[in-house]
Amino acid sequence: MIKTDCSLCRKLITIPGQLCQNCRRQTGLTGLSFYAKFSKPLRRAIHFIKYQNCWAALDYLTNLALVNWQLPHYESALVPIPLAKPKLRNRGYNQAEIIARLLQQRLNWPMSSCLVRHRNTQSQVGLSKIERQTNLIDCFSLVSLPPQSIILIDDVYTTGSTLKEAARTFRNAGVKKIWGLVLAKD
Ligand SMILES: [Zn+2]
Repeated sequence: MIKTDCSLCRKLITIPGQLCQNCRRQTGLTGLSFYAKFSKPLRRAIHFIKYQNCWAALDYLTNLALVNWQLPHYESALVPIPLAKPKLRNRGYNQAEIIARLLQQRLNWPMSSCLVRHRNTQSQVGLSKIERQTNLIDCFSLVSLPPQSIILIDDVYTTGSTLKEAARTFRNAGVKKIWGLVLAKD
């Protein structure tokens, strides 16, 4: 099914997956696509994947999502939202990176690790929308020249603060085509 409404405000638009002008301005994202709403079963599945290292389930979910995700129609570099190093050490993996790898295998689009998280931010859980935004300011930076068209990949879109801050980092570097791709949207 081809959707023709903005993924955030439902205003009608013509290009599937793209955001309306207003939402683009607010998020810094050209488009945003999610597999499903963050329902209870999906929440449990993502929680399970995250904390029980269940790769097979993530692979399965990404495959399902690939059918529903609306991607840009031009090749774009896949950029997983990085974790801060201590968190990565603790968990042992970054779920966004695994989703990006699975996508890379299927789409044959390049993956870029130019985005790094250089500050260990407080967990976003339990913070208000404003607290989430201030918590993330300047937490990302680019370590190499960014590709001109990118897809930011994360597992969940809650208030959007993480994707917005990452998008801001790329916009400041002159990148104009920035899509967001997540499994679930709150
Ligand atoms: Zn909109």
